[in-house]
Amino acid sequence: MVTNSELFERGQKVMPGGVNSPVRAFRSVGGIPNHIARGRGSRVWDVEGNEFIDYVQSYGASILGHAEPVIIEAVRDAAVDGTTFGAPTEREVLLAETMVERVPGLEMLRLVSSGTEAAMSAVRLARGATGRSKILKFAGNYHGHTDALLVAGGSSVAEQATSDSAGVTAGAVADTVVAPYNVVPELDDSIAVVCVEPVAANMGLVAPEPGFLQGLREACDKVGALLLFDEVITGFRLDRGGATSFFDVQPDVWCFGKVIGGGLPVGAYGSSAEVMQNIAPLGPVYQAGTLSGNPLATAAGLAAMSQLDASAYEILIERATYLASGLTEAITGAGVDVLVPQVGPLLGLFFGTEAPTNFEEAKALAENGRYKQFFRGMVERGIAMAPGPYEALFVSLAHTRDDLDQTIEAAAGAAAGVGDATA
Ligand SMILES: *Cc1c(COP(=O)(O)O)cnc(C)c1O
Repeated sequence: MVTNSELFERGQKVMPGGVNSPVRAFRSVGGIPNHIARGRGSRVWDVEGNEFIDYVQSYGASILGHAEPVIIEAVRDAAVDGTTFGAPTEREVLLAETMVERVPGLEMLRLVSSGTEAAMSAVRLARGATGRSKILKFAGNYHGHTDALLVAGGSSVAEQATSDSAGVTAGAVADTVVAPYNVVPELDDSIAVVCVEPVAANMGLVAPEPGFLQGLREACDKVGALLLFDEVITGFRLDRGGATSFFDVQPDVWCFGKVIGGGLPVGAYGSSAEVMQNIAPLGPVYQAGTLSGNPLATAAGLAAMSQLDASAYEILIERATYLASGLTEAITGAGVDVLVPQVGPLLGLFFGTEAPTNFEEAKALAENGRYKQFFRGMVERGIAMAPGPYEALFVSLAHTRDDLDQTIEAAAGAAAGVGDATA
């Protein structure tokens, strides 16, 4: 039997850090990543046969849980008929119709293959449609790793962005402005688009404060800027209509990913029909993709969406609420200060006493060393959470009450090991 440490050693020789996406390398929690062999429902098993209740769920892409039969069947059926053509197919039309029908104001979209690609294309669209160059994003919001958006900032005022990554030139971020989350920024008519995660889910979970999203809507309207909701996490997870219907605030442009692929690579960006007229072949904004609207990916996406009726969201929210209060009780019961922020079915986890509202506050809690201790205690007890303090906890439709109870019990044990060793 191959072991996690053997695979990690071999992986590190052929892939940077042994991984294909950096957080998977366990740098911020220590130890050796569990190399997953298979998953089913709420559970995953690593190559050594260790079983975990999984709250990573591919960072939210697997909203039904792993290896859900409707997804397997859809992908199998699609594969038999050919996996890619470079021509339009019926499933692309169906998936686009399904999305447009659910999200208020979304009239047309383009399917791409990742959230990064969606955000990159949406920014290009916004610049093309407005004829303006500058874009604004919020510190601690993540929009994938396209150069112009690969900036976090973290100051308390809006400022010229500097990138967090080597290889991103000053020129590539020269038109990016970064502002603190949860404060409506001053805009002027140089801004093409304001990009926001309507619920920040990449700095732990940070909810929008009342009036923030509506304030952005008004600020954008005042100067003719477009408002972009990056719904790569929130889309079809918060609600059937995503953040747009959950908060009843109307953006101009959307990005989607994760849930809409049913566990396969899909992203999308969209807008009104009028704004989407700018996209080639109708208009001058170029954007394309060999595997865009891929038959397997759209089959999986359609299968996932077919399960997401109103009752699915009630179930997700009910389970998230149960888990949030159970975790809070178990961890505080062990004498450890914890916050389990919740927005609909989305949960976060911070060790501290005051819920963060922006990146600076979130970072202070994320870097206090406690998440790492808790994470390790949870892994030992068969619970898989994201191997870093900046991610959300993803409850899927496959998590049962029993799974949640086992998780809460594990949390009580893991919390007992948190705190003392901080020094
Ligand atoms: C995951 C994520 C992205 C990037 O999506 P990828 O498919 O990883 O490229 C963009 N925006 C948000 C809000 C995300 O959570």
